[in-house]
Amino acid sequence: MKLFHCGRCANLLYFENSRCTRCGADLGFAPDVMDLLAIEPAGNATWASVASGDLYRLCGNYQNQRACNWLIPKNDPHTYCVACRLNRTIPDLSVQKNSDLWRRLEKEKRRLVYSVLRLQLPCEPRNEDQFGLAFDFLADQPAMFDERSKVATGHANGVITINIAEADPVERERMRNQMAEPYRTVLGHFRHESGHYYWDLLVRSGPWLGPVREMFGDDTRDYRQAMDEHYQYGPPIDWQSRYISAYASSHAWEDWAETWAHYLHMVDTLETAWQFGMRVNAPQSPMVSSEPAPEFDPYQAGDFDALIRHWLPLTLALNSLNRSMGHDDAYPFVLAAPVVEKLRLVHRIVHGG
Ligand SMILES: [Zn+2]
Ligand SMILES: [Zn+2]
Ligand SMILES: [Zn+2]
Repeated sequence: MKLFHCGRCANLLYFENSRCTRCGADLGFAPDVMDLLAIEPAGNATWASVASGDLYRLCGNYQNQRACNWLIPKNDPHTYCVACRLNRTIPDLSVQKNSDLWRRLEKEKRRLVYSVLRLQLPCEPRNEDQFGLAFDFLADQPAMFDERSKVATGHANGVITINIAEADPVERERMRNQMAEPYRTVLGHFRHESGHYYWDLLVRSGPWLGPVREMFGDDTRDYRQAMDEHYQYGPPIDWQSRYISAYASSHAWEDWAETWAHYLHMVDTLETAWQFGMRVNAPQSPMVSSEPAPEFDPYQAGDFDALIRHWLPLTLALNSLNRSMGHDDAYPFVLAAPVVEKLRLVHRIVHGG
């Protein structure tokens, strides 16, 4: 994630802010310039960037629900921003709890959309483009106490369904424990499910299918049966030497989606570290050293090896910082050599090489 500064007072801002905590300026993220702008009312429901004077309108969800902080260029006819217009179904907001959970989902969804825009991947809403993307954010019905009738988080034909309970930290931790996963986050779900969508778009019927099959295995294997086997017998004992997660070993599609999500974890976290000018240098351990050049941009980097070279030391430092604060590892993963090669293939496909 880029660093953002208030256009009025230069205060450092978080991507999620809608008001500057220092000078009180209203803020909005403008996807056309990929910047969080200080804005001021310019009449007729329009807002002007304090820095450039460019005119915008607030996203419908900014205006009405305070569930978004993105802007729409003044002459764009849409009611919602590029992220919110991907929504097909949102939960019943008359239920207070739903409305809190939905806001949390939207917050993480915008991080996914940020990455997708930075990578210049297609991201059209499904109601405007037959190959587009749509989100269904659904709540379990109270009567559905049977585990199998719960809303399943997943992707099918361009529609990503997220069970809004995933945004409830208690519920998510319960599921994380039940599934014995070291990492489960809302952002992780968005990144994973987007992997299935981009498989359809970039891999399924194009020239990448062969190389992907060679690397990730047989995607024509019966999916239901593979899932049943995974949940009945568990992952292969040596999964860590070939997969990024135990779940990735269940089917080639899941391996792809897990690796895709991991690629997004990597480039976005690297961008944040690079924007802060972070360098890692453990004097006694020459292997734990990384100093990205000022022009290094993980979202553009043609050189995949540079990404990995900067990533590994950073993850060691990141985990050590977390442990110092008494938290679990931020990065509970080990990158085996075959996993690095899978990430390299994702990188090539993303950049169209
Ligand atoms: Zn300010
Ligand atoms: Zn929006
Ligand atoms: Zn999946």
